[in-house]
Amino acid sequence: MHELSIAMNLVDLVRAQMKGREQAAVRAIGVRVGDLVDLSAEALQTGFQIACADTSLMGSVLEIEAVPVVARCRACGRPTEVVRQFFLCAHCLSADVEITSGLELDLSWIEVDEAPPP
Ligand SMILES: [Zn+2]
Repeated sequence: MHELSIAMNLVDLVRAQMKGREQAAVRAIGVRVGDLVDLSAEALQTGFQIACADTSLMGSVLEIEAVPVVARCRACGRPTEVVRQFFLCAHCLSADVEITSGLELDLSWIEVDEAPPP
């Protein structure tokens, strides 16, 4: 289950981002996952809950945003969205396209509760 290791990497990444703000509680994090990434969102959610256990992220919510597959056509130069894995330019029908989006797996935001001043 590689989703668990992805989830553990995400938790490490968030904890690294939160360094020096240990009293702030992470409420939610958002990740952008390209549609070409071989990943089950359900398994990632489960993995995230496991990875969060006994960390400062425990109880936080994972929001997964799907990123459509976008390619740049080398024939006409225009960006084109790839649907149903037909890697053809929608403008000129060339198959000579270069994938520009759809392969990402990025942490895009972190929502925190800042602790009240002491
Ligand atoms: Zn084209």
